[in-house]
Amino acid sequence: MCGIVGYIGNREAYPILIKGLHRLEYRGYDSAGIALIDSESNLHVYKTKGKVANLEQYCKDKNISGTIGIAHTRWATHGEPNDVNAHPHYSQSENLALIHNGIIENYLPLRQMLEKNGFTFVSQTDTEVLVQFIEYVRSKSQCSLYEAVHQALSQVVGAYAIGVLEKGNADVLVAARKGSPLIVGVGEQEYFLGSDASPIVEYTKNVIYLGEEEIVEIKRGSSDILIKNLSNVKLKPQIQKIQMDLSEIEKGGFEHFMLKEIFEQPKSLEMCMNGRVQTEMQEIILSGIRDNIAKFRNARRILITACGTSWHAALIGKYLIEYYCKIPVEVEVASEFRYRNPVVFEDDVLIAISQSGETADTLAAIELAKANGAFIYGICNAVGSSVARLTHSGTYTHAGPEIGVASTKAFTTQVAVLTMITLLLGKELGTIDDSTYKHLVTSLSEVSKKIEKILSKADKIEQISKVFTYARNFMYLGRGYNYPVALEGALKLKEISYIHAEGYPAAEMKHGPIALVDEEMPIVVVAPKFKIYDKIVSNIEELKARKGKIIAIVTEGDTNIANIADYVIEIPSTEECLSPLLTVIPLQLLSYYIATAKGRNVDQPRNLAKSVTVE
Ligand code: GLU
Repeated sequence: MCGIVGYIGNREAYPILIKGLHRLEYRGYDSAGIALIDSESNLHVYKTKGKVANLEQYCKDKNISGTIGIAHTRWATHGEPNDVNAHPHYSQSENLALIHNGIIENYLPLRQMLEKNGFTFVSQTDTEVLVQFIEYVRSKSQCSLYEAVHQALSQVVGAYAIGVLEKGNADVLVAARKGSPLIVGVGEQEYFLGSDASPIVEYTKNVIYLGEEEIVEIKRGSSDILIKNLSNVKLKPQIQKIQMDLSEIEKGGFEHFMLKEIFEQPKSLEMCMNGRVQTEMQEIILSGIRDNIAKFRNARRILITACGTSWHAALIGKYLIEYYCKIPVEVEVASEFRYRNPVVFEDDVLIAISQSGETADTLAAIELAKANGAFIYGICNAVGSSVARLTHSGTYTHAGPEIGVASTKAFTTQVAVLTMITLLLGKELGTIDDSTYKHLVTSLSEVSKKIEKILSKADKIEQISKVFTYARNFMYLGRGYNYPVALEGALKLKEISYIHAEGYPAAEMKHGPIALVDEEMPIVVVAPKFKIYDKIVSNIEELKARKGKIIAIVTEGDTNIANIADYVIEIPSTEECLSPLLTVIPLQLLSYYIATAKGRNVDQPRNLAKSVTVE
């Protein structure tokens, strides 16, 4: 949430910053702003409500020259999204400008203290308090900007990634992070800042992932990068190479990132399984599991924690692991887990799942379980993210950058990773017999081709979607492995179309939701042909008897349901435990087409942002 970009070097900063903001806009789009220092060392701040395009428009007649600057796209936490609350924020004297991603939790006492000392505030944000506080510290101790930031941050409670500029000081950019991600790009005689690598990759692949509580000073023309942590320990900058191509963060001819990412799933799954699913030997190779097999073998139970779509993947993980590995699994949303004083044993394994690897609640859940002595295994997409750093071991999903706010390929790759973990664990623990193991490994390797087949019939799903743009409510039902898929389908629709939708275990609808069913209620039933197929057919009959409009996701050639349902969407046949990887695809497309038919901005749905770095 909130995108940060910064530049210092020999080029004009504005075009780099604006392009960077466009790339980061998925992280927030309530307002956008930019601060630049011109050749006379004057500091200018331009900011406005709305999207980055509004900022560009606003800047048209402004002085946008300067080779140093910072910029921000906001997802508001404190104070409504308006011009005044937009970042960058000036300090009282207008000598400092600051951008911030995160929440300063003790902003109120700090603000009161500053007000007593003559500071006045123009915004409602926690961020303005921070920039004023830095100015206050600076005026008290007459120290450098870097020192003032350092001292101020040691008294701040909360999460931040910040960038700070100072009037009259066109050669220095100071930045810091705790809890929110921040990357420094290191080019030839130039440096970049970014919440992620997307605003940087076009210019350099050399980056420093700033660590927790680290403060960095970047100087124009100098190769010395000063990094200290809050305990004042000087750290050696570790330059790493980013594995990302520009093409991965562009739309590549698709109308939206979300559609591109839905269609990318065969490829992203192949990337995810590459070298891990060995088709010839019919083996799974996952070093994170193999190297820590004793931890899993001796585990009292596995806890899985996540938020949003990743939580749905986690629920599928429970079905998989309990069935094939016979280890008890508990799944809990991270925001609940972290605050309810859960019982965590030293012989528990906690699996934490997060696309960005920066989800604030998931990180807190990791810390909590770690403090209790549990073994922590991470599943995330963003290489070098906080999840990757804080966990004992883990598996990257390698889905490639996911820009659309509604998660699609991150979900399927998370489910694929959980499936690989299950198969390998089951084999190692002796809970899966050899022929089942080999058969499932082969079936898993065939999933990508089957998804391609579903995608090739996207136009049929688009047709169906047109019928349902009127709907004010939707119900999604599934059983077993496909119950979490029903939850995911409902979430996708809510997120991007703003139609109210509920996911439910199919049989459970008799205990309440069936009261909502009438001829106006579309019900998506995920009903591939597996062992409790007959039960779900009965559920469909019950809904039909109450005039519900049924859209059923069925196994190819299922004429039975085709005769009862209003619409059917077929998926190729597969094993039951792999079916979520297929059944979710039509649900993603259905949501996408309904939302676009309603004219929604599917890549940047209202009130949402990707990478939830605040609680
Ligand atoms: N707390 C800051 C604000 O409301 C930053 C928000 C964020 O990082 O999402 O402006």
